[in-house]
Amino acid sequence: MAESWYGSIMRASSRFATIAFVLFAFFAATSCSADKKDPLATLPEDIQSRVKSGIAALRLSDADRASIVEGISKNAAAFAVLFREALDVMKNDPYLLRRVDKTAALPSNYVPADLVSLDGKYPFATSKKNMQLRAPAKDALIRMAEAARAEGITLVVSSTYRSYAYQKSVFERNVKEMGKAEAERVSAPPGMSQHQLGTVIDFGSITDEFAATAQSRWLSSNAGKFGFSLSFPKGMEPVPGYKWESWHYRYISQPAAELQNRFFLGTQQYLIEFLSGLPR
Ligand SMILES: [Zn+2]
Repeated sequence: MAESWYGSIMRASSRFATIAFVLFAFFAATSCSADKKDPLATLPEDIQSRVKSGIAALRLSDADRASIVEGISKNAAAFAVLFREALDVMKNDPYLLRRVDKTAALPSNYVPADLVSLDGKYPFATSKKNMQLRAPAKDALIRMAEAARAEGITLVVSSTYRSYAYQKSVFERNVKEMGKAEAERVSAPPGMSQHQLGTVIDFGSITDEFAATAQSRWLSSNAGKFGFSLSFPKGMEPVPGYKWESWHYRYISQPAAELQNRFFLGTQQYLIEFLSGLPR
């Protein structure tokens, strides 16, 4: 009786010791491997946790998330430089990188303070009078149009700043003509159009035929160098929520465009969601 009582205590305590040891070994192993496997540990410490929160805020497939993380981890130093530059842009001019999409609207009374006219003599052509852009977007457009012209290409500007009220009339007309679902694929409800930012340019014909022009080909290889980014790329409709628009470019600044093209799979929506998901 005494012996079996003693024996069962010994068995229980050795079982307890085994379980405790297994648990200890498990946690030690997982915490070690977590340290080893954290690919973003290569980032400078002062930005590491912000970058992780920004990436966690992205809505995207696991495969896309993995390739973004891998790209950053492989070139952490270059990423850190561009990231800090983009943060400066956001600080100095928050609307350049402001999130505006189907889940994030601009106030109805938002009118950029630095709109300037495109009428006059410039290295680009315009398809109508009285178009306006924000000053930094116009300056970048002039530099980009000069570079295009040097290669024999004339950029044709067809639509730029649109007020909330104008976008409201465009969207309501589309709903009447094509129904709500289709209107939402091809146009933005008022407040949700990037055109209200005053930093967007529609080039050329504003039709799918534009993609086959020399102008479009030049823009798709060069716009990023001047800080412009194609907002609604081909095959990406579920991400920004709009049909492919080969003609619609948004000025986001040169460092942000480079950050997008090198680290965010060339996708503006990913970059903007990442930046807007950063902890304040
Ligand atoms: Zn547009």
